[in-house]
Amino acid sequence: MNMPREFPARGACMRDSTVTVPETLLAALKSHDRVLIAAHANPDGDAAGASAALGWTLRTLGKEVLLYNETGFPDYLGWLRLPSPVLRDISALPGKPGLVVALDSGDAARLGEGIQGLLREVPVVNIDHHPGNPEYGSAANWGDPAMPATGEMIGHLAEALELPLEGALAEAVYVALVSDTGSFAYGNTRPSTLRMAARLLEGGLDIAGIRARLDNNWSEGKLRLWGRLMSDARILDGGRLGVALISRSLPDEYGALREDAEGFVEQLRRIKGVRVALLLREVEKDGRIMTRVSLRSSGADDVRKVAAQFGGGGHRNAAGATVDLPPEKTLAVIQPYIRHVWN
Ligand code: AMP
Ligand code: MN
Ligand code: MN
Repeated sequence: MNMPREFPARGACMRDSTVTVPETLLAALKSHDRVLIAAHANPDGDAAGASAALGWTLRTLGKEVLLYNETGFPDYLGWLRLPSPVLRDISALPGKPGLVVALDSGDAARLGEGIQGLLREVPVVNIDHHPGNPEYGSAANWGDPAMPATGEMIGHLAEALELPLEGALAEAVYVALVSDTGSFAYGNTRPSTLRMAARLLEGGLDIAGIRARLDNNWSEGKLRLWGRLMSDARILDGGRLGVALISRSLPDEYGALREDAEGFVEQLRRIKGVRVALLLREVEKDGRIMTRVSLRSSGADDVRKVAAQFGGGGHRNAAGATVDLPPEKTLAVIQPYIRHVWN
């Protein structure tokens, strides 16, 4: 149901006095008119939402904006209003941008191989909330691991540029916030996050409409796939480890998409006593069978350390890596490292 708008849009831009956007970053953005906005491959709601939000911000300032993502945006965010198409192939760029802004990428490699050459040729701004980000931005860096979502940083950035959080910009910021905070439920949620959510509502955001578009859009295939994943889930290590394995062909068996497994790892974390949830997705890369690993934990249990052992990264309670082994073998090699989390 669409509720009537309770809060008149203020028009004026409120800002959060507890957050400072670096001046070097604002200067870099202001001094370029053609900007390519890139985020990590296999983007989540934060990567996609932050990209769209920054795109709307820069377009409102009159800049030429192009979004880039090596694997494109997921179908479940197909409704998100975008300031430009999402380019997947750098060689199809219509001319060189003056600036690349990298979002939600703990290191430059996460942006994908295709863009690495361009990163060496043009100034780069790096905006991110992953711990250990090596500040790979040649023009400016804003890294803040205390931020729950890169999208919150973009919200503050838009407000620093005196734009109110309204319309498509507000929607994109909201998608980023709810994606990385579990809808304001994870421990990373800050007062500034909730204050920003309040400003989004004051700007007229259709919160229930977005919730319906995000949540009430499953295919029957996805429901059946999750049913299968739930029945096959393994509870190991005396109930402390919840595991699901997904072969490449499994989604097809149910008429589901590969991306439909996204988020299933959160279900494993719901089991009482489970301290680490592990989702192992079989993928093929350069003709090799590999495994995309998703790890989740709660509180002080640090799964980022586990992911880092396998060349991945992330946050204390949500981390990932790609391992050059099939899923069963990946489970065998990763399990001893996971035991360190609770030992
Ligand atoms: P996911 O399980 O794919 O939702 O990822 C959870 C978190 O882990 C994300 O916020 C990413 O920052 C991080 N992450 C996932 N995959 C990788 C990777 N291959 N390398 C570094 N960080 C990753
Ligand atoms: Mn992300
Ligand atoms: Mn993020």
